[in-house]
Amino acid sequence: MKKKMLQFVDLKQETPEKRSTLKRKADFNEIYNEFITEKAKEQSSRCSQCGVPFCQIHCPLSNNIPDWLKLTAEGRLKEAYEISQSTNNMPEICGRICPQDRLCEGNCVIEQSGHGTVTIGSIEKFLTETAWENNWVKPIEVRKESNLSIGIIGAGPAGLACAEELRKKNYKVTIYDRYDRSGGLLIYGIPNFKLEKHVVLRRIKHLQDSGIEFVNNFEVGKDKSLKELKEKHDAILIATGVYKAREIELPGSDLGNIFPAMEFLTASNRKGLGDKVELFDNGVLNAEGKDVVVIGGGDTAMDCVRTSIRQNAKSVKCLYRRDKENMPGSAREVLNAEEEGVEFIWLSSPKKFLGSNKVENVKALKMKLGDPDDSGRRKPIEQNDSDFDIKADLVIKALGFDPENLPELFGEKNLQISRWGTIKADFDTMETSIPGVFAAGDIIRGASLVVWAIKDGRDAAENIDKFLKNKTQLKQKVA
Ligand SMILES: Cc1cc2nc3c(=O)[nH]c(=O)nc-3n(C[C@H](O)[C@H](O)[C@H](O)COP(=O)(O)OP(=O)(O)OC[C@H]3O[C@@H](n4cnc5c(N)ncnc54)[C@H](O)[C@@H]3O)c2cc1C
Ligand code: SF4
Repeated sequence: MKKKMLQFVDLKQETPEKRSTLKRKADFNEIYNEFITEKAKEQSSRCSQCGVPFCQIHCPLSNNIPDWLKLTAEGRLKEAYEISQSTNNMPEICGRICPQDRLCEGNCVIEQSGHGTVTIGSIEKFLTETAWENNWVKPIEVRKESNLSIGIIGAGPAGLACAEELRKKNYKVTIYDRYDRSGGLLIYGIPNFKLEKHVVLRRIKHLQDSGIEFVNNFEVGKDKSLKELKEKHDAILIATGVYKAREIELPGSDLGNIFPAMEFLTASNRKGLGDKVELFDNGVLNAEGKDVVVIGGGDTAMDCVRTSIRQNAKSVKCLYRRDKENMPGSAREVLNAEEEGVEFIWLSSPKKFLGSNKVENVKALKMKLGDPDDSGRRKPIEQNDSDFDIKADLVIKALGFDPENLPELFGEKNLQISRWGTIKADFDTMETSIPGVFAAGDIIRGASLVVWAIKDGRDAAENIDKFLKNKTQLKQKVA
């Protein structure tokens, strides 16, 4: 069997042990290539085609899930794919990494009645993989290219989705990114075991083949100001994401082998992409054989613990100051991590890092939960005389991200931001305080999800198109 046909492996031919592993993976919607047509049809036929499509309502892209499930159940895969891609620029990516338990699948009526959700994400992924396999995914053909051009800052999912939609409308599109590769957090943040990098690179190539220009190693604010970019293009989209890691200022923070999550994950992703990464190659950013402590309870923390396991760490502990029920990360991710051998130390907060040059122990305190705070979540309170030490030779801080100071970085005081530092954009038009400059994705929402970035990118494209049409009409009237 050719390697690329692996996705059509017949489960019935596998040993019971392998079958159960594959099934578990399928149940958790993990990376697996062995999803087969028969399994997809069987799963899709479980959809009850209920009158009110709660799955669709809870999908940020309003994907027409019931229709493509019905077509899949009937074996009409190409038609199912066409419907699924009509509302989503990266269905194979969302199928892999959306937290479906909080979105479409969590609201499936069958799940609600206790019979286990239809595995919507897996089917979405399967349909698009089948489409790639059969050459159904074609580059955009631009019949008559417009003279108008749009500059997009940031090649993450928001920028990419916006670029594709604008290209479909015949505009010239250039995407600028400060990284050497495109994809944003899809390429350097989210680990390979959740989202294989060849899947992201394939999408980028598809957009390049569609005539979208990519300019990498180009930092707006350094290589050109926003004003200069604005002079070059007829409209601008800011889709720069949020990258300022939240810090934890504790005694001993300056000891060696304490790293922010993105540094650890980027090193691991770069290695997966075949890059030379000195800090990984010399063992500093490699968890192999180490006692790893990850601080934080969100999805980034889960990615760090699970990456450490895959790098053969000696032990992996996750320190979180609330309990399991109050963790911000996806319940499914926590379950996966537990299954893989991660030890969670709930209701604990670090107080000090101990060691001579490098970290050797984390001193932590036990917490209890008090009354809800402003966010509605119960506030963690320190318990007296409850300190304890955890052995650690690699500490990873995964406490979340805030936006960088974009008005300052871009040299543009008129760019208004919210009190959280996110860019203020008109809710209806996605336009910022600067006319002709739009914004989308994490930089307007704060750290969020890929599917929301895609939704924003699509909405921004609609609004940029309207803006440019109005501008052209106005020019014609004046002329
Ligand atoms: C570790 C991790 C794991 C995650 N896992 C998931 C998951 O499993 N599922 C999920 O749905 N979401 C996940 N997310 C969230 C998701 O990745 C983001 O919500 C999404 O990528 C946001 O898209 P974006 O396009 O707004 O920004 P980004 O993906 O962050 O892309 C922004 C791009 O802008 C570029 N840029 C920034 N500043 C400049 C500048 N000045 N000049 C030029 N370029 C610039 C950056 O280099 C980057 O390429 C995860 C996030 C992290 C950190
Ligand atoms: S995009 Fe995400 S939420 Fe929507 S159907 Fe696909 S997996 Fe579910």
